[in-house]
Amino acid sequence: MTKLHCLGTAGYHPSESRHTSCFFLDTPSILLDAGTSVFRLKSLLRSKSLSIFLSHTHLDHVMGLTFFWDLLAPHTPLETIHLYATEAKLKAVETHLFHPDLFPVIPPFEFHPLEELGARFQLGSTQCTWFPVEHPGGAIGFRLDMPGGSLGYVTDTTCETGAAYWKEVQGVDWLIHECNFTDAPQERQMAIHTGHSWTSAVLSAAKDHGVERLILTHLNPLVEDRDPIGLEASKRSLGTHVPDHIYLAEDGKSFDLSVR
Ligand SMILES: [Zn+2]
Ligand SMILES: [Zn+2]
Repeated sequence: MTKLHCLGTAGYHPSESRHTSCFFLDTPSILLDAGTSVFRLKSLLRSKSLSIFLSHTHLDHVMGLTFFWDLLAPHTPLETIHLYATEAKLKAVETHLFHPDLFPVIPPFEFHPLEELGARFQLGSTQCTWFPVEHPGGAIGFRLDMPGGSLGYVTDTTCETGAAYWKEVQGVDWLIHECNFTDAPQERQMAIHTGHSWTSAVLSAAKDHGVERLILTHLNPLVEDRDPIGLEASKRSLGTHVPDHIYLAEDGKSFDLSVR
């Protein structure tokens, strides 16, 4: 059974109820992004090895890389940390995030530039695919085909039906997609300006591309509400043109990916 743990589900900055972007798959021990929520891994780590996949290196996705000294043995069973990202983003981590002016000593990451592995590669029994998405500075999404189910991870990005990344996540059992903003006109403007998505755009594009199980994340930290992205209103306006199963990611929530 593969369990998806939502460690951090906010975009931009932490709030009282949400830390920033990070998801953990306990089998096969993969971390998707490394936001401020990474400290929560401590109670979940069972394996000697962890593979971290970075969508990009904006701070809300990499801050937690600086927390790893407290997540390694003897604090946990963890001994080896593999870091997967594009070459440019690995360089940014090494030279900027871990510049001695910002952090004293870089934890022992093993760097794996994705370009050297190709667009599709095997990690144990998991087939991993990565692909570009639209976002200032560049970002990538991932598809993981695991024995227990398949998962797409798409953040941070603008969203529209027909965008190139949709064909990469075609047929996944579960899709995690960012949804930072509501449908309000000024929020759509902000989404376009900052390279993010709004609710009805994600719901209708996901439906157009046959997504059945959609998990919305990278939620606006300013709204401490059960529905920070106006999901119920967007669903009402779209009627049946939405995926069958829509979930709002919440810190501490987990999903059994074998349920499909
Ligand atoms: Zn972000
Ligand atoms: Zn970003």
